[in-house]
Amino acid sequence: MTIKALFWDIGGVLLTNGWDREQRADVVARFGLEPEDFAERHKLAVPELERGRMTLAEYLEQVVFHTPRPFTPEDFRAAMEAQSQPREETLALARELGERHRMYSLNNEGHDLNEYRIRTYRLGEFLLAFFTSCSLGLLKPNPAMYRLGLSLAQVRPEEAVMIDDRPQNVEAARSVGMHAVRYENAAGLPEALAALGVR
Ligand SMILES: [Mg+2]
Repeated sequence: MTIKALFWDIGGVLLTNGWDREQRADVVARFGLEPEDFAERHKLAVPELERGRMTLAEYLEQVVFHTPRPFTPEDFRAAMEAQSQPREETLALARELGERHRMYSLNNEGHDLNEYRIRTYRLGEFLLAFFTSCSLGLLKPNPAMYRLGLSLAQVRPEEAVMIDDRPQNVEAARSVGMHAVRYENAAGLPEALAALGVR
């Protein structure tokens, strides 16, 4: 078996999650928002945000600023961005692998936060392209998202590995014929990849 391309999830793998449950809970508490109202509104708006059909400003308008607030959208956005932290060990490993392999992202994220994260942590230095939900108009674990990523990279599923922390996303990658590694921590990754001939 020859692996020709590696596809990386970003949130929970290379970096902390962007705007997942823990990040939202932290920011909601910090700004004293009503958790249930926020959660309801978030649930309706976030798929469109992540499919790139809604801007972050529009999302914030609906989810947070539908009522007067004692803080600005800029304050809120800065707090969202501050939630993104690097996973240094995994980043170092990815940089090394990037010297020998074609690598891309295949991740769910809204446009603004995705760009912020890519730029801040210089992910473009080792990922050749970003197959992100906001650009593709599709979300993992929809198998169509994986097929589109494969097609854009021009690799066959059996020549590709998906690295993702969510079991459902790993299963979806396998459902289209890709190899997949369930990421738990940086320490386990080299061995899991080596089993696929990726060193
Ligand atoms: Mg993830």
